Amino acid sequence: DHVANQIAAGEVVQRPASVVKELLENSIDAGAYSIKLIIKDAGKTLIQVIDNGKGMSATDARLSFERHATSKIRSAEDLFSLNTKGFRGEALASIAAIAHVELKTKQDQDELGTVIEIEGSEIKNQEVTVTPTGTSLCVKHLFFNIPARRNFLKSNNVELRHIVDEFHRVALAHPDIEFLMYHNGSESFNLPKSNYRQRVVNIFGNKTNEKLVPVVEETEVLKISGFVGKPEFAKRTRTEQFFFVNNRFIKSPYLNHAINSAFEGLMKDGSHPSYFLNLTVDPKSIDINIHPTKTEIKFDDEHTLYAILRAAVKHSLGQFNI
Ligand code: ADP
Ligand code: MG
Repeated sequence: DHVANQIAAGEVVQRPASVVKELLENSIDAGAYSIKLIIKDAGKTLIQVIDNGKGMSATDARLSFERHATSKIRSAEDLFSLNTKGFRGEALASIAAIAHVELKTKQDQDELGTVIEIEGSEIKNQEVTVTPTGTSLCVKHLFFNIPARRNFLKSNNVELRHIVDEFHRVALAHPDIEFLMYHNGSESFNLPKSNYRQRVVNIFGNKTNEKLVPVVEETEVLKISGFVGKPEFAKRTRTEQFFFVNNRFIKSPYLNHAINSAFEGLMKDGSHPSYFLNLTVDPKSIDINIHPTKTEIKFDDEHTLYAILRAAVKHSLGQFNI
């Protein structure tokens, strides 16, 4: 069973940033409105996420590390109308298979909480503890028992970049939640609860404010909201390209193309538009259950979506006389 856990773990956890993503999403699913991410050495020695969400009972805390133990799917129907991020019940089991994990958690109605320590799927300790309402998940020594994986990790700069990317994605998808991030003891981000525009500016800097053009569109089947960057502020990198579907960060080369094509004729060669766009669609019209890391998605009617998205961005750029 430990071997099965390790193999499955490799699918879910590719690098420290994968752990960050799973933990942040669990905190959001738990209804937290303040989430703190603490990392050391680009996550290679420590990744900790502390939230003020609903916490877990002692029994649920123990169960949360069992493979396919998810509290989030109640029926097959739920699979098609997913509102939560997690739905496979694999993340914690996978992480616990390949790291040293300490979980501290307490529900509001309980006086005392639970602490559980696990190393490579083995429970080392479980006790009652004094802890605030919410959950702290502390992941140390990632890949301690898989040297090949550990040795394949990139430099701290590269791994940190991946973590920051995940942090940006989650923070942009949830401006109504406060996020803090610390790396090696110093504050990297302090993002108070705010509106979407302010969240973008808090992450990417005050200069971002003047370049944002709102994009708004609503049809019977979808809603688009968010911002694109004015063409004259276009970047040589794609670091400011964010596309969310129902609050989930999505990579879609096809829809990325729709946005780029709306900028046609306005851009200098080799530069890329900035965009921070949210799409809201009926969950029944998408399929997100196609990859464990869940950044890809299938739409029922991609062609229509492409056309609407392109037109909406073009319209916004036109309205602002660009
Ligand atoms: P999934 O998110 O797919 O359900 P996970 O392995 O990520 O699977 O988590 C397993 C379960 O542990 C969750 O379904 C949830 O009940 C519980 N859990 C995990 N993290 C938290 C948290 N931060 N707060 C409350 N409950 C949590
Ligand atoms: Mg999860």
